[in-house]
Amino acid sequence: MSGHYRNNPGWIEIICGPMFSGKSEELIRRLRRAQIGKRRVQIFKPQIDQRYAQEYIVSHSDQKLPSQVISTSKEVWERVDGRTEVIGIDEVQFLDTGIVEVINKLADMGKQVIVAGLDLDYLGNPFEPVPTLLALAEYITKTLAVCVRCGNPANHTQRLIESDERIVVGAGGVYEARCRRCFEPHLRQENEPV
Ligand code: ADP
Ligand code: ZN
Repeated sequence: MSGHYRNNPGWIEIICGPMFSGKSEELIRRLRRAQIGKRRVQIFKPQIDQRYAQEYIVSHSDQKLPSQVISTSKEVWERVDGRTEVIGIDEVQFLDTGIVEVINKLADMGKQVIVAGLDLDYLGNPFEPVPTLLALAEYITKTLAVCVRCGNPANHTQRLIESDERIVVGAGGVYEARCRRCFEPHLRQENEPV
């Protein structure tokens, strides 16, 4: 394995934090730099995120980069070209947990895999697969947003509508960034740890 590692510069980078914290901007910045460096880049985003143009990863500040739309981790595995050097995945929390093995295998094969996603759900609980990917990643970036209530650094995504589904797709009006003190997980279930 060590000889394999010497010849294959693969690794995992993860960018995580709440909504509006600049994860997509940072992912786009890193992927653009890889493209400038003439690396072979492939970019994926899950089908479930239909807020914006399907064929792009888009930030809330309207930066965008063309991407391939996929629905499952298996599809990521099948669509990766053997010659690809850098792989970007946005909104990884919308994919099945099989994505952990796929990302790990791609890094083992010598690819640079850059992943962005939410690390906490709307109740403030760790949101798989990001916590597991944090343990496996070589490089970790945690981004914070700005609390819309008080202006402090925000680690939470506050859901503004009533729903106890873990995934409700939306942005402005549905979610906002809040700090630890201003976060109100109203919809916490009775058996949920406090
Ligand atoms: P993420 O991918 O983490 O949801 P994006 O990269 O899509 O974040 O968007 C980040 C941009 O969102 C910021 O550069 C800023 O222009 C805008 N923005 C809107 N609301 C906030 C907020 N509460 N805190 C920080 N940035 C915000
Ligand atoms: Zn606050």
